[in-house]
Amino acid sequence: MPMSDHAKAHAAPFLSRLLRGMKDGIGKVFTPNVHPSGAHEPTCKRAFLFAKRLGWYKPRWSEALYAGTAMHEVLSRTYQGTEIDIASEQIRSEANLSIAKSQASYEADNPGEKAPDYDEVKKAASLGTVMASAYDHAFPMPTSWDVIAVEQTIQRELSPVLGVSAPPLVGTMDLVIHDPTNPVGPYWLLDYKSCSEKPSYRATGLTYAIQPRLYRALWNAAHPDKKLAGVIHGIVQKPTIRRKTKSGETWPQYYDRCLQWYEDQMLTNPDDPPIIRSRIAFLTPPLEKDLELHELLRKLAALSVPNPDLSTFYRCGNHHVCVDARFRRVCPYFPFCSAEDPRRWENIFETRGFLKRDPEIRD
Ligand code: SF4
Repeated sequence: MPMSDHAKAHAAPFLSRLLRGMKDGIGKVFTPNVHPSGAHEPTCKRAFLFAKRLGWYKPRWSEALYAGTAMHEVLSRTYQGTEIDIASEQIRSEANLSIAKSQASYEADNPGEKAPDYDEVKKAASLGTVMASAYDHAFPMPTSWDVIAVEQTIQRELSPVLGVSAPPLVGTMDLVIHDPTNPVGPYWLLDYKSCSEKPSYRATGLTYAIQPRLYRALWNAAHPDKKLAGVIHGIVQKPTIRRKTKSGETWPQYYDRCLQWYEDQMLTNPDDPPIIRSRIAFLTPPLEKDLELHELLRKLAALSVPNPDLSTFYRCGNHHVCVDARFRRVCPYFPFCSAEDPRRWENIFETRGFLKRDPEIRD
């Protein structure tokens, strides 16, 4: 039998009371900003409640994530106008340093959690550096381009556009360039992506992707005289070869071998290369008239109600979402969901190694 309005009205205070009663703010509810990279309707709304509204998470080391961060850092430094040799030891050390700082904060943020081995961190930094370098070799910045902005963070209020109460849209763009030779328009967003799969596969759906449309909404509102014509995606596959440290392979030798790997892959598979640069002009209407985006953003706004209730944040009940067969991983929130009675959540949080994000530094 569907839950009556009367029952719902009583269910919401129950959850709020329960969360408020948890110690040390474990149950404190956040209202997350909308970020272009995460602006999609959640597959499971209960997971959204745990991850975004409550900020509960289980720490997990991810080489792919760290390598991607290093790649972005090296590319952003390259395009900030500094005269640098991307292949130099100095750049690699800087990337390592930055990763090591992340490692230190990882350790500080995750008491009791075994931090990733520093060699693993260095390996991830090296991978990211190699990927940035390979991209710069394959697609050096044309001399006709001017860099307009690097890693610029912009915030825009969504409530006036949507006509409902909504959290702000906040995003940091990789790069914006000015290309006077482009007939479509001179201003373009550059967005880098690292991936393990083939870039052609990663590029699927980019023509209608939400992320660049929201970046455009941010940039155009902040720079109305420099409206973006489109987005250029630089997509780099992670090299499948690893450094042979046991046989004494040095960083320059590994670096050369990786660049050779990219060259070989491009020659062997010219129709499906490991690095691509695609240019997509914006054809969808701007945010003010993009009804598809309005629908999505309103749904996300509806998930930001001050007092969440369990019926809105229902469990998806879909095995293929609860279990990621590709990575043989079960959703970290499974113990909460299977407990059935939310009064057990606090105990599960405390005994299963969960942590709570700081809403100020989150996302
Ligand atoms: S275990 Fe399944 S139902 Fe529960 S939060 Fe995760 S995905 Fe959702």
